[in-house]
Amino acid sequence: MAAKRPKIIKKDLKRVSVKPNLLNYEKTYRSFSYKKVEKELAWLGKGKLNAAHDAVDKHLNTWRKNKVALYWIGDECDKKYTFLELAQLSNQFANALVEQKIKKEDRVFLFLPRIPELYFSFLGILKTGAIAGTMFAAFGPDAIYDRLHDSGASVVITSPELKPRIDKIRKKLPDLKTVIVTGSVKVNSRKGEVLFNDMMKGQSRNFKTKEMKPKDKAYMLYTSGTTGKPKGVVHTHYDIIHQYMTSKWVLDLQEEDVYWCTADPGWVTGIAYGILGPWANGTSSVVDARRFSAEKWYDTLEKYRVTVWYTAPTAIRMMMKEGSKLAKKFDLSSLRHMCSVGEPLNPEAVYWGLNTMGLVFHDNWWQTETGGILIANYPGMAVKPGSMGKPFPGIKAAIVDEHGKIKKTGKEGNLAIKPGWPSMMIEVWKNPVKYKEYFKNGWYITGDKAKVDKDGYFWFIGRADDVINTAGHRVGPFEVESALVAHPAIAEAGVIGKPDEMFGEIIKAFVSLNKGYKPNDGLKKDIQHFMKRYHAGHAYPKEIEFRDNLPKTRSGKIMRRVLKCQELGLPVGDISTLEDD
Ligand code: ATP
Ligand code: MG
Repeated sequence: MAAKRPKIIKKDLKRVSVKPNLLNYEKTYRSFSYKKVEKELAWLGKGKLNAAHDAVDKHLNTWRKNKVALYWIGDECDKKYTFLELAQLSNQFANALVEQKIKKEDRVFLFLPRIPELYFSFLGILKTGAIAGTMFAAFGPDAIYDRLHDSGASVVITSPELKPRIDKIRKKLPDLKTVIVTGSVKVNSRKGEVLFNDMMKGQSRNFKTKEMKPKDKAYMLYTSGTTGKPKGVVHTHYDIIHQYMTSKWVLDLQEEDVYWCTADPGWVTGIAYGILGPWANGTSSVVDARRFSAEKWYDTLEKYRVTVWYTAPTAIRMMMKEGSKLAKKFDLSSLRHMCSVGEPLNPEAVYWGLNTMGLVFHDNWWQTETGGILIANYPGMAVKPGSMGKPFPGIKAAIVDEHGKIKKTGKEGNLAIKPGWPSMMIEVWKNPVKYKEYFKNGWYITGDKAKVDKDGYFWFIGRADDVINTAGHRVGPFEVESALVAHPAIAEAGVIGKPDEMFGEIIKAFVSLNKGYKPNDGLKKDIQHFMKRYHAGHAYPKEIEFRDNLPKTRSGKIMRRVLKCQELGLPVGDISTLEDD
């Protein structure tokens, strides 16, 4: 017998997500202009600014000087840093970099776990006018080499545990002059190795932050590598205006909040909404540096009385996999707003949030290239589960065809944005050709397929390359995956189009199972039956393969291109960001 569709408590989503003080936002949106908001930035002289100053130092003239900016959670202890402490530590580090002759636009890369040094050295780099680059701590030597080599970084900051990976490739990196190591280990000064703590010693806590033009470069990082080789995306100091506004209006950060962004600064979310945006709003942020476990995460939410939580679909699905029982053991009553980004958020996850925490996950969409949230479900807005929401004020988004012409409402096409929003990337490092390829007929083409409904909500369909053509029907992998994860046995699903003589392509699903379910043919049939009955006759997976885990980027995105290449026996291309099993 086919599994029953799980019971979904469809409360009034609109009512649940509305906070009275947010209702005014709709009005504010209408009169929004970036020029007006610019007044709220902390300018350094005429027409000059520095994102690090705006994020941290500007608060030193206010009561927030001694407010906790960072609640840091490690394996062995927890620590706290006020805005004043972050300002002083980043000043000391900036002084140390200047002593090393670091100057404007030099690339200084961070290859660190989420330790406090990562946060204040990022700010210190920006203060000198150099470009800060980030790399996720789980990268292996090849991925690190690609990034340090491509960017021509002259300094890298790392930890004793991660340093051996740099040692392996050091000879091939002639531009890399200095390796700064945290902790206390033996270093070889003849090789340009220096201890972080030695550099900081004796440095002044004051530093004259470099005054930058708004479009001067501030930080760079490489895309997630979900669809191909990661691209070196460069961002400017002016990004902060958009990150500040979206932190305020989309994440709804307010003075008394304790906010937790679970992203690592190796990815753009960890920079824009783990460092710059929330601190520019003077918000207290939590960083949990420990390895993921659902239990630890619930504990962090409870212990720090987190009020606003920004996370990603993979993490949510991992928590769902553990079941609601675990969640019920914790007091999560402090939470008042939850957001998600990075991948399509399955409606099932929205309902789970509602049933487990009494709150709706507010999905939002953006990319490394966009530097900030562009499409979002705002607080106070009726959430349509499965939709990414509406464009942020000042952002013009549309669905366009191959020539960059706007398509009719409801028609699927390329998600495109009118260029010129403040946090738009300024270049792809050393690759002007690649940069140019993003633009067509006056639009920035995102590489995602989507549609927009009559209420102006955007719906993600899939990556341009992932859309399936089966028996003449175009099917987005996301909707099939969302339907699959509604089956009680399925924890995660990745769907691809497999070439087929008869149908052009057939749908093949790779699924991992929830605890307590065993893979077998009976279950396959049950899933297919469930899909035909509750989803669509034409869009059910003709083939299903059980996997313990699905291939994912280190930022947690399902890599459908890897599933497809494995299925077709083709070379998988760049997998430097592939997660280990
Ligand atoms: P690469 O460009 O190297 O292939 P990537 O596109 O995964 O990697 P990111 O910039 O980290 O690199 O991710 C942006 C992409 O993530 C978007 O283009 C989109 O495909 C996906 N994404 C982000 N947020 C959402 C969302 N809310 N719903 C659906 N997809 C999303
Ligand atoms: Mg991309």
